Amino acid sequence: MRITDVKATTLKGFKQWNYVRIETDEGLTGLGEAHPGQGVVDVVLKEFRSMLVGSDPRDIEPLYTRMTRSSQSRCGLALAAIGGIETALWDLLGKALDVPACRLLGGKYRDRLRLYADVGRGRENTPEAWAERAREGVADGYDAIKFDIDNSAKELELDPVNRELSTAELEKMTALVAAVRDAVGDSIDVCIDCHGLYSVHSAVKLAERLEPFDLMFLEDPVPNDNVEAMAKVTASTSTPICTGEFLYRRDGFRELIQMQACDMLHVDVSGTGGMLEAKKIADMADLYNMPFAAHNIVSPIGMTAAAHVCAAVRNLFIMELPYHATQVDWRWDLVLSDEPLIQDNAFVVPDGPGLGIELNDEVAREHVMPGYSYFDEGA
Ligand SMILES: [Mg+2]
Repeated sequence: MRITDVKATTLKGFKQWNYVRIETDEGLTGLGEAHPGQGVVDVVLKEFRSMLVGSDPRDIEPLYTRMTRSSQSRCGLALAAIGGIETALWDLLGKALDVPACRLLGGKYRDRLRLYADVGRGRENTPEAWAERAREGVADGYDAIKFDIDNSAKELELDPVNRELSTAELEKMTALVAAVRDAVGDSIDVCIDCHGLYSVHSAVKLAERLEPFDLMFLEDPVPNDNVEAMAKVTASTSTPICTGEFLYRRDGFRELIQMQACDMLHVDVSGTGGMLEAKKIADMADLYNMPFAAHNIVSPIGMTAAAHVCAAVRNLFIMELPYHATQVDWRWDLVLSDEPLIQDNAFVVPDGPGLGIELNDEVAREHVMPGYSYFDEGA
């Protein structure tokens, strides 16, 4: 089997949703979603297309290695493009062998994945509004919810850039989380994301103040590119510290895991290099008995790829549902699948070959980003 063409397109979704389609001389095609970002599609077509055409698509790891070796950049846009291509190759191989992608990654530990709803923020940054937003997530049936606490007390900050949290900010943030915990009771898991904004000692103070609320995790309390700083926060608190959505490939996780600088990983499958790379990161973490969660800001196509990884890793504890993308009310219509992907608030891993889903061309075509064609149609 040989690759005859690589096509790509971009939809205007919650973010820029990028898709890759790989075509072969046997008529089989593979579909993958690349990490959101402007220009990703151009990298797929201009940097990698000619390298892939003529290759056997079943040699996934050698092709991945060729792409990462040839690229000037092994993160960001280039890795987003590579991740989309890699996912399309797994979809294709699964179809060629008539097995679901999770089988190719070692097999399925679970059919259904627990989801947390990333509810974002309250409509205002008041305890009442945060409590209301928490109740909405729980009323929709989710037993785990996440809030973004960064910038929630911006009016109280003393300096916009120095990473310090004033006592007044700490007080307010604590009151917001207290209101959430009070609103949902003790049986709901609550997560808080800081997006890597704070200094070590501010993060230590925040984590300590949040200990009574028994968080499932506190995410990226400090910038995630300094392992020692993350380790210091993690060692200081009983609040579980989580990081990983902005780290790339095994190399980006190696020190973090070896130093046990966090309590759990939050890996973005589409951003970190694709499905096999994410599986390898999970396995590396499992050597240290460290749990693995999947971060998602992709459309349901990319979520399905992440779900196949999550099904095939032993140490999975939860997967993100980008609940704040609910304003894109056509997003589930993008998927053609035998049964709904979300059932009883869990993600049901498709059983069909490859990813087990197809892109609904009719729906997708309606939302192509201006300036792009739909997989070269009409070109
Ligand atoms: Mg995050």
